[in-house]
Amino acid sequence: MPQRILVTGAAGFLGSHLCDALLANGHTVVGVDNLCTGSTDNLRQLTGESRFSFEEQDICKSFDPGKVDFIFNFASPASPVDYSRLGVETLSVGSTGTVNTLDLARKYNAGYLHASTSECYGDPEVHPQVETYWGNVNPIGPRSVYDEAKRFSEAVVMAYHRYYGVNTHLVRIFNTYGPRLQINDGRVISNFMSQALRGEPLTIYGDGSQTRSFCYVSDLIAGIVLLADSDEHLPVNIGNPDEWTILECARQVLDVTGTKGEIIAKPLPQDDPTRRCPDITKAKTLLGWEPKVSLRQGLQSSLQYFKDCVSAGSR
Ligand code: NAD
Ligand code: UDP
Repeated sequence: MPQRILVTGAAGFLGSHLCDALLANGHTVVGVDNLCTGSTDNLRQLTGESRFSFEEQDICKSFDPGKVDFIFNFASPASPVDYSRLGVETLSVGSTGTVNTLDLARKYNAGYLHASTSECYGDPEVHPQVETYWGNVNPIGPRSVYDEAKRFSEAVVMAYHRYYGVNTHLVRIFNTYGPRLQINDGRVISNFMSQALRGEPLTIYGDGSQTRSFCYVSDLIAGIVLLADSDEHLPVNIGNPDEWTILECARQVLDVTGTKGEIIAKPLPQDDPTRRCPDITKAKTLLGWEPKVSLRQGLQSSLQYFKDCVSAGSR
């Protein structure tokens, strides 16, 4: 059944891909975004699409898009560089913004899916991370503005489900990349791709032995759409369990870009998680989902996008 769906953070990397997927499935989409880290450039492909509308809106302020059947809450600064710059705004969108959108779901009896994060696990002592692990987060460290905002969001989403019966879902997203990842947001794939394509040295923070598991955007969106259709209310990890050290990731980028860039070391940021890899047994069992795109394939599919950004002079 075609639905009228609200996507917050619609002008961001993931929100814009989600809008594309929902429209392709026949739905009508209302996108909102305050453009603090996103850009309407990410929605250019939807120009003239009659089932899509966009409104510049801060979700921390009261708003009402009219009757909607489902809400995807994706608004929040997401990269360490962005949320460090926008610390209080990140805490506000994770708290007030989440509550505002849950109130809309309650008012319109709409389904609700919140974009949570692997960052809820902090610097994990359990590896790979299973959904039942409660995490190891420094509540007052530099990453806490993001981690604790997301942990509060999970708590309030579960409360609206338990106390008010809202049909909520929580996805814990692990590092995702692909076209429309902002080239200047400081995340490792955007930094390495742009550095390699500009012939600059790739900056490894620390000794590069810390690990991440990188999910290509189309795989992630497919998992999220399945979760939204499910009856699961507890958190579900969606990510690619193929784990890479940051040094190995740098080598993959050099290989795919065909460049011989130097690799240089920079200081490791405080509280940078040492290891991160999702246990996706739950997503596999519950949703029949698993990622299909390898890191190498995903980097190849993203190459033209990053080349275009670099030649347009984006920094
Ligand atoms: P992004 O920065 O590209 O997109 C976030 C969007 O939210 C931006 O367009 C921004 O302008 C908007 N936004 C921020 N605060 C807002 C507010 N108060 N009101 C309205 N709009 C606001 O980041 P992304 O990678 O697309 O992340 C989307 C969501 O997924 C975030 O909630 C993020 O925490 C979550 N997530 C992403 C990843 C990842 O690897 N990309 C991993 C874990 C979780
Ligand atoms: N990183 C790096 N060089 C960079 C950017 C990031 O070595 O230019 C490292 C960072 O310290 C972290 C990992 O890459 O260990 C992933 O960083 P990112 O900011 O992409 O996301 P995080 O998973 O830390 O939120």
